Amino acid sequence: MRVSLEQAIAELKNGGVVAIPTETVYGLAADATNDNALKKIFAIKQRPADHPLIVHIGDMNQVSDWATTFPEVAIKLAEAFWPGPLTLVLPAQPHVSRVVRGDEPTVALRVPNHPVALALLKQGNLSVAAPSANLFTQLSPTTAAHVEAGLGESISVLDGGACHVGIESTIVSVSSNGQWQLLRPGMISEEDIAKVAAITNQAPSTVGADAKQALPKVPGQHALHYSPRTPLLLFKDRQSLIEESEALQAAGWSCAALLIGDGDEVNFQSISLPNAPEKVAELLYSSLHCLDAMKVDRLLVELPPALPSWLAVLDRLSRAGYR
Ligand code: AMP
Ligand code: MG
Repeated sequence: MRVSLEQAIAELKNGGVVAIPTETVYGLAADATNDNALKKIFAIKQRPADHPLIVHIGDMNQVSDWATTFPEVAIKLAEAFWPGPLTLVLPAQPHVSRVVRGDEPTVALRVPNHPVALALLKQGNLSVAAPSANLFTQLSPTTAAHVEAGLGESISVLDGGACHVGIESTIVSVSSNGQWQLLRPGMISEEDIAKVAAITNQAPSTVGADAKQALPKVPGQHALHYSPRTPLLLFKDRQSLIEESEALQAAGWSCAALLIGDGDEVNFQSISLPNAPEKVAELLYSSLHCLDAMKVDRLLVELPPALPSWLAVLDRLSRAGYR
């Protein structure tokens, strides 16, 4: 059910749940100070309770309402990238709901860069937890129609058009001594972060195998996350994708493909995206939603090159399918 901005604010203030647009993906929002409302998010998404939620705030001045410290590095990052697709994980104030923290001692904060989301937060004087508005481990929604297709028509949706960034925010944790760590890659790259943080004598660890053990739970790091329903196969180049498609078709299986960059045409249904990381990120989930709806036996996806600019797209694709 589509709702207006005023209706969305009223529902949220009343302890309800509303899907809202952000520049990354649509979020399933609830008042971040209301435990009963927050629990509805977990129930609707079928998300495990120990997976913390990102709190969306309207202004960086509100960080001190949630975090015990706002280290210099985090201030610089917020000034550089907020409003925008960067989430900062900071030590939480003791009053911050355990439900939103997933029992972690930290809280994740972000000022979204979307006029409708900002209007909702500011006019409503609200802070909302808003994980992606989809079932746990399924494809994230980047349009109001995706939300309804995934969660059903009865969910309240505030339509703000298609999301422009298209994949989830970059997540950086900053400890009280100013050390920072990338928890999830996104369209703001680790290099962008490092430049602003201007870390000189302390190399940050990334989402490597060693780093993971010491990190808090990271829902987005689930091995299979962001998945379409159709089994998805990943290929490092066009040629190997075409060879596999021929073998599949010879065995009577139907295929559809997501192609990235230039290369030979394929003789079955496909979506072609340009060799441009921002554009592919923007259209990634909507392309996968569209391919999924074709109800073929296998989705074949051509991976972009393993370059830093493609890291966030590669991360999401590697969690969506099998190589
Ligand atoms: P999403 O499912 O897109 O809402 O992502 C939630 C992400 O935020 C997870 O990947 C966590 O890493 C991160 N996160 C949220 N809250 C916290 C927290 N309190 N401590 C650490 N990480 C958090
Ligand atoms: Mg999600």
